[in-house]
Amino acid sequence: MIVDRQGRRFRNLRVSLTAACNYACTYCVPNGKRLVAAQDELPAEALARGVAYLVEAAGIDQLRITGGEPLISPRLEAFLAAVATLGLKDTSLTTNGQLLARKLPLLQAAGIRRLNVSLDTLDPNAFRRIARGGDLACVLEGMAQASAAGMRIKVNMVPMRGQNFDQVLPLLDYCLERGYELRFIELMRMGHLARDANAFRQQFVGLEQLLTRIGLAHGYVQAAAPQDATALRYHIPGKGYFGVIANESVPFCRTCSRLRLSSTGWLHGCLSSSNRHYIGELLDKPRHQALPALQRLLVKALADKQEQAFAGDVMVMKVIGG
Ligand code: SAM
Repeated sequence: MIVDRQGRRFRNLRVSLTAACNYACTYCVPNGKRLVAAQDELPAEALARGVAYLVEAAGIDQLRITGGEPLISPRLEAFLAAVATLGLKDTSLTTNGQLLARKLPLLQAAGIRRLNVSLDTLDPNAFRRIARGGDLACVLEGMAQASAAGMRIKVNMVPMRGQNFDQVLPLLDYCLERGYELRFIELMRMGHLARDANAFRQQFVGLEQLLTRIGLAHGYVQAAAPQDATALRYHIPGKGYFGVIANESVPFCRTCSRLRLSSTGWLHGCLSSSNRHYIGELLDKPRHQALPALQRLLVKALADKQEQAFAGDVMVMKVIGG
């Protein structure tokens, strides 16, 4: 097992199935142009072999499939089938929900039981303005069908001043009523927001402001969360839970256990570092040759983690896997 001086190790792997997305969210891409798949994205089988090797080399026990938008990838089915044979304790998927209703049978057949659905507003106009793609009604319908099919749903919302801060309570109530757990993600200084401090500052909503707004309508108490959880978790008695990923207000770098594998075969040990390590060529090698080389790269990737706090980076979340 590879462990650093702070006792951190990689336990959670996020694999970006594609950098392509059918949205162009304002916090992710600056110019509204949707990203297309990179030319050199790896075949599904190679990515799945990457997962298998990383499980062994790093001791990964949780996998999250993400992107880009994983549900638009033509490699989704083959990847899910290959990953289902690995016997992982927990496999989940992050999606914008646009194709969720259509892909639900495939996800169920692959054993996916937990979904994170990104949804920043219940207002169709604000939805169009922020996501710059897709249709709100499709997302809501997809979540309803997935929930009815027994999937556990977390909703990811990035609250932003001037864009959707007025949606904090409506979205929270919507989720509480349906048994979805809403997770607020503090805006991160990634991509163009790492370069434009003003744009970041103008929109940023921090934990304190968020909790004050929620406190206007609900009493809440902090709930327990696993030691390496990125989200602070709160309980609204009799109604449910919500979470806050407060990367700016309460950094979680000291206990971070996340590792990312991009669709083109790059390992990222930290969202706040531009360092990356190519493993694509190792995935054609047999296990006994690949694992020692992979372990050396994992040591480097672990050293990329920030000691204490997220500082931001010009990398775009879509490319490395949000
Ligand atoms: N397409 C999928 C989706 O929409 O969930 C997966 C990829 S998306 C990049 C994953 C998550 O990253 C989303 O929940 C999105 O809100 C978040 N994200 C992207 N850029 C962000 C930023 N600058 N600050 C905070 N969250 C961000």
